[in-house]
Order: sequence, then C-alpha cells, then structure tokens
Amino acid sequence: MTALSGGHIIAGESVATVGQGFFAVNPVSGAKLQPAFCEGSAAEVERAAALAEQDFPTFMQVDKSQRAALLDTIAAELLAVKDALIARAELETALPPARLAGELTRTVNQLKMFARFIETGEHLQPQIVTAMPERQPQPRPDLRMTQVPLGPVAVFGASNFPLAFSVAGGDTAAALAAGCPVIVKGHPAHPGTSELAAQAIASAVRKCALPEGIFALLQGSSHQLGAALVSHPAISAVTFTGSQAAGRELFDLAAARAEPIPLFAEMGSVNPIFMLPQVLQVDAERLAQQFAESVCLGVGQFCTKPGLLFAVQGAELDDFVARLRENFTRLPAGTMLHAGIKQNFTAGLERFLSCPDVSPVSDLRPAPAGNCEVFPTLLQTTAAAFLAQPLLADELFGPAALLVVCDSSAQMQQVAQALKGQLSATVHAAATEEADCRSLFAILQRKAGRLLLNSFPTGVEVCQAMFHGGPYPAATDSRFTSVGHESIRRFLRPVCFQGLPTALLPEELR
Ligand code: NAP
Repeated sequence: MTALSGGHIIAGESVATVGQGFFAVNPVSGAKLQPAFCEGSAAEVERAAALAEQDFPTFMQVDKSQRAALLDTIAAELLAVKDALIARAELETALPPARLAGELTRTVNQLKMFARFIETGEHLQPQIVTAMPERQPQPRPDLRMTQVPLGPVAVFGASNFPLAFSVAGGDTAAALAAGCPVIVKGHPAHPGTSELAAQAIASAVRKCALPEGIFALLQGSSHQLGAALVSHPAISAVTFTGSQAAGRELFDLAAARAEPIPLFAEMGSVNPIFMLPQVLQVDAERLAQQFAESVCLGVGQFCTKPGLLFAVQGAELDDFVARLRENFTRLPAGTMLHAGIKQNFTAGLERFLSCPDVSPVSDLRPAPAGNCEVFPTLLQTTAAAFLAQPLLADELFGPAALLVVCDSSAQMQQVAQALKGQLSATVHAAATEEADCRSLFAILQRKAGRLLLNSFPTGVEVCQAMFHGGPYPAATDSRFTSVGHESIRRFLRPVCFQGLPTALLPEELR
C-alpha cells in the first residue's frame, strides 16, 4: 500500500476528517502537491490518545523479543516502500535522492540498533541488592531495581530530517523499544512522506500481531493540534526537534499541565568552532574548504551546522579569511526545505547585517531565481561587537556563519565563557597549542554536549557513546541525548521492588 489517502493513521487505519485541508508544497517549484491532507483536531488527539492509553498495559508487558521483532519489521516495511518514500520526500523537501537514501539507511539501522539493544536487556540496568536479615542495627531488605516504560509518547517530527528524525525516526524507534505507544505529530512540510512511513509502521504492528493503538500519525498545520497533544492527560512524555520558540512554548505547556510531563526538546545551536593561530599557519587551505562545506551541507539545515567561527587576528587569519571568501563565493545556491525556513533565514541574515560592525566576508550575491533558493553567506564581526550584541549568538538556520575576530587567545576564552548552551563545540589546534586547547575545553565542557578536536560537528554517529543534546537552549534537559542507544532513557523510569518473591518480580530481576 503506497497510495496516499491524506488522512491520519489511527489504529492502523487511514482516518479522514472533514473540514479544511492543507497541501505539501514543492520547494523547487512552489507548486501544491496532491493530495490534500486532513487538519487534525482535538477529536483525533482524543481518539489516538485513548487507544494508546488502552493498549499501553499490553504493550509494556510484551516480551523484549517481540518488541525487537516489531522494530525489525518496521525496518523491513520501510525498505519495501523505499522508492516511493524517497520519491515523495524529494518532492516535498528538495533534498537530493542520494541524501534521502542515506537517511533511509540510517533510519532502518536505528530501528535495528534498538532491536539488538533491547534484546540484551542492558537498557533496563537491573540492580539487585539482596537482603541481610542479620545486619545490625537494622536488617537490610531485598531491593531490586529495573526500568519501566513511561506511557504514551508524543513525537514531533522534524522538518530537516524527513526520515531519520520524523515519523519512523530515532524518537519513535527509541520510544517503541522502551515499550511506549507513540503518537506522531507529522511535520506539515512533508505530510506525504509522513503518511508513507506511518503506513509502514502500521503494517508492521499488524504483522507482529500487536495492539494497533500503539502507533498513530496525526497530520496538521496548526499549532492547536500539537498543543492539544501535549496537553492530553494520556501523554506521558514528548519529544520535539525544531525551533527554540516552538520548543520553549511546548515545554512551558507540558510543565503547566495539571500533571506536568517531561518535554525533551532539541532546539538546535550555533556549534561554535575555535581556530587557534598555529593550526591556521599550517592548514589554512584544507580548513577553509572543510569549514565552508560543513556550513553548507544540506543547505545549512542541520542542527549541528557550525554557525560561529572564532579566530585570533593576525597574518595567518588574513590568509584564512581570503580562502574562506573564495570557498563561500564558489559554492552554488541551494534550495531550502520550505518557504517559511527560507523566510526565517533571509530575515535572520538581514538582522545580522543591520547590526553595527557586522559585514559580509563573501560577496553578497543577488537573490537566486529558484523558489526556495539561497546563497551561502559568511559574515564577520569583532569579539567586542559580538559580546555587545546578544542576537549575534542566535542560530541562523541555513548556509551562513559568522566569523568573530578576537584580539587575543584571552579574548577568545572570554567569548567562550559568554556562550549559551550548545549541542557541540569544536577546537582546531596544532600539537603545539595544547595548553590553549585545554583551557578552552575546560570552559566549553560547561557549554556543550559534544566536544570535538580538529574535526567538524555535522555528521552525528548513531552509537552508544554519542551525545546529541546539551545545556539550554540547545535542549530542555541537558542530561538526555536524542541520538544513540542512550536516547531510550527519555522513555524509561526506575522502579524499585522491595521484598517481592521471585514469582512477582520482572524477569530481569529474578
Ligand atoms: P518549528 O517551527 O519549530 O516547528 C516544528 C513543529 O512544531 C511543527 O510540527 C510545528 O507544526 C510545531 N509547532 C511550532 N510551533 C508550535 C506551537 N507554538 N505550538 C504547537 N506546535 C508548534 O520548526 P520548522 O518548521 O522545522 O522550522 C522553523 C525554524 O525552526 C527554522 O527556520 C529553524 O530556525 C528551526 N529549526 C531548527 C532545527 C534544529 O534542528 N535546530 C530543525 C528544524 C528547524 P505547526 O506549524 O503545524 O504548528
């Protein structure tokens, strides 16, 4: 089944609603894409949430091998509709087919990774402390701790990864692996891709003979739908990837509920890069090229795009800036994901350029002809101007970065101290610059969830040691990652069993 109905997917069925619909828009041509998609309302939230709540007790009891089989089957069902998924995602996002094929592989591998992880039982981190009835002055009881799923989870699909961070992406995979039903609020920029992925999940749920209320996709292009989902009493946790404004608004809504729930928002960051002087002396050409490519990868629409570059003034920086100018001017225009993102990007650039002491490094080219097209841009300012104007530390989501020229390495450390929370922070240094490097990392460790040396932050490996998160405003809870095995922790909570006989204990505690 690869036809699009334009409906929501609830309990394995396409559900249409009457009233206003919305369309996906081809970012290249600006043309509406058929079919019209239903606008979800509180009624669909109520139905999906009630089913998720109803089927949660069954799903949480399901054996780990059955849950692993579900994840493997979702992976297989996605691969079965690979061509349709990639073709629709290309139409809706303008991302090239090769990138989308890579993203689908990543999506499938994430599902399989969680399947293998839960089979080991390691995610439950069982702790067994046996009784010591003779202990003085107090006997010790038998205490055993494991992890249980939180309950139904609402997932907000991200616009910039229509497969790997959307309907069947890492959040859904981790929540299902934990034993939580999932209700996805699809991103309105790629509803067709969302529906195809949801059909694949619904088909896998059916093939695995699991209760169909454990998965739903709700479509919509209004804030009310997302707000109703976050507010529904059956929802136990929410994941979100997107803008800081939306993430914060939804976080506040989750906290203001009669029963507050965790809302794990990943809201992006500027991923600062610090280039120390001696590394520029020896490697300016390669670094200029790789920096420009990292900024422009995926038309700059990565939450790990480096948006700030700090360097110390001097002859080696002058040479490096000339090479950066060449690289940024050489790179072609790219098509952004949707008109709203392009509008945010161009408005952000204008805001930066209207600030005192901010100037373009690369040539400012006339607006490109294509509908959602933008040119890569590099801006420059001084550390003093950067410190005086907090808006220059904001994310410019798109192919642009700001070079901040510092007077000295001491001033570089001062700007590092002033930074807000980040997903990543990077230092480029020669072997002879270890002392400065150490001082910077000591500061940056308090700022970022991932620290890199002589590398670039775009490209996030999915594995046990990955941490994709960071202090606010990069994320709403700096203790949790949204990528890798450990991302399952967002959907589990510890329970201690005291004095229970073996027969009443969960298997992993017996
Ligand atoms: P967004 O505006 O944050 O929207 C993300 C999701 O949240 C959408 O489903 C949106 O749907 C919903 N939403 C937004 N505001 C809401 C609110 N107040 N209440 C309830 N739901 C709300 O992200 P976007 O559309 O992907 O892109 C807009 C900007 O976000 C970009 O220009 C960029 O700055 C940033 N962004 C950052 C990242 C990152 O990884 N850091 C990724 C993508 C985007 P509705 O519109 O239907 O309500």
